[in-house]
Amino acid sequence: ANGTPLLEVKDLHGHYGESHVLHGMNFEVHPGEVVTLLGRNGAGKTTTMRAIMGLLRKRAGSIRYQGTETVGLQPNKIARLGIAICPEERGIFASLSVRENLLLPPVVLPGGLTVDEVHELFPRLEERRNSQGTKLSGGEQQMLAIARILRTGAKLLLLDEPSEGLAPVIVQHIGQIIRDLKKKGFTVLLVEQNFHFASTVADRHYVVEHGRVVDMVPNDKIAENAARLEAFLGV
Ligand code: ATP
Repeated sequence: ANGTPLLEVKDLHGHYGESHVLHGMNFEVHPGEVVTLLGRNGAGKTTTMRAIMGLLRKRAGSIRYQGTETVGLQPNKIARLGIAICPEERGIFASLSVRENLLLPPVVLPGGLTVDEVHELFPRLEERRNSQGTKLSGGEQQMLAIARILRTGAKLLLLDEPSEGLAPVIVQHIGQIIRDLKKKGFTVLLVEQNFHFASTVADRHYVVEHGRVVDMVPNDKIAENAARLEAFLGV
């Protein structure tokens, strides 16, 4: 990828209290790319997402978004730059209907999808608009979680293990959604442990181990690296 990165992470360190979990992460994401952070449980992928969003307070190093340094900024400021996170636990409101969940997150930037545009992208959510969050299937919850961050108008989407716990056919559907988002010009940073799924959606993969990026594999080289990556991920 050429040109200026949309997101540039340099020598990123992160702590939970006294515990040092990110040890100098380095990677970049270019406009329109889908990039994954691949790694085992506990490698620091989620913590990296939390650092980018500003939710991890004890962070040091540099995280530039469109050239703007975000280390030191509050999460609400970072959201307004155009970054949104879809957490692993999905963050939807269980007792609210699908429609209420879609109305709640503020549109923080121009270009946030309207509810009608969300329904176009996710017809299933229109069918389920009056259902409570708790009544949704795992796949529907994941769609709703992604739909909510599209409402905000963010251009960089941080998706934390969207395939987790879903049946294979639903995982394929989520993959199609991510490819559609790329076609629409969104940039996606994806955390994954499932590299087969990652290889169906991403342009490049960063391999994360013990809070560091240890390798970068372009997706067109993933087949020749498959055995090594599988061993690495312990799958
Ligand atoms: P997972 O898929 O399990 O989320 P991960 O690669 O995303 O794996 P992180 O969740 O970023 O890993 O965790 C990195 C390290 O930080 C782990 O050792 C974990 O135990 C530790 N950790 C995570 N959250 C906290 C927390 N709130 N307080 C203290 N330590 C934490």
